[in-house]
Amino acid sequence: MSLHFSILASGSTGNMLYVGTDKQKLLVDAGLSGKNAEALFQQVGANLQDLSGILVTHEHSDHIKGLGVLARKYKLPIYANEKTWRAMEPLIGNVSTDQKFIFPAGTVKTFGDIDVESFGVSHDAAEPMFYVFHHEGKKLAIITDTGYVSDRMKGVIKGADVFIFESNHDVDMLRMGRYPWSVKRRILSDVGHVSNEDAALAMTDVITDNTKHIYLAHLSQDNNMKELANMSVSQVLESKGMPVGQAFLIHDTDPKIPTKIQYV
Ligand SMILES: [Zn+2]
Ligand SMILES: [Zn+2]
Repeated sequence: MSLHFSILASGSTGNMLYVGTDKQKLLVDAGLSGKNAEALFQQVGANLQDLSGILVTHEHSDHIKGLGVLARKYKLPIYANEKTWRAMEPLIGNVSTDQKFIFPAGTVKTFGDIDVESFGVSHDAAEPMFYVFHHEGKKLAIITDTGYVSDRMKGVIKGADVFIFESNHDVDMLRMGRYPWSVKRRILSDVGHVSNEDAALAMTDVITDNTKHIYLAHLSQDNNMKELANMSVSQVLESKGMPVGQAFLIHDTDPKIPTKIQYV
């Protein structure tokens, strides 16, 4: 029982996930300023000095805002696929060559006792990808920033013990909200973000008896609410005969408040 994690921040204002075992600690994305990132680490009792690297999902600023600063200050290796590297290099300032590592989509990299599996998603960035963490038979999957969840993606994340799953917007709130139509169309498109309902429908295909916890992530601050996301997802799952609160629980995430470190 050593694989553990904290969702340090989740939402369009910044994303960071801390994942570790007794021996290895990793960060997925660094979408907050260096100062805010340090404060969040302190809040959950983790140390940036202990990290063996930062895995990047894509070059949008809510995922890389603090990347350059943290990598320089703590001399951390950065892992991203080639196209993401090309897109983010001009945005993160100077990072020395020996901190730059290529992690292609659709491959597995071993960090000590954690196997990390990358998989491509459908989102309007250079080559966005997310990760599944494997350790001693346990599986933690994170998937956000995708317009839809394909059968290929489902195949990779299926049966995780813990899911960190995008539940970005309520379609009606988005449609009626204040965003210009071009932005609404982008969010609703195949390369935008997953709605509460679509997230729940995808979950029905990937939840198995292994699944214990689902964290609803990357909620839109304008087009969603925690209670609404939770209720919408729960309703869909219950309608498919997967009652929430029995085999598995659903949890919120927050743009500013980290989740307590949880063992998988
Ligand atoms: Zn994005
Ligand atoms: Zn994002």
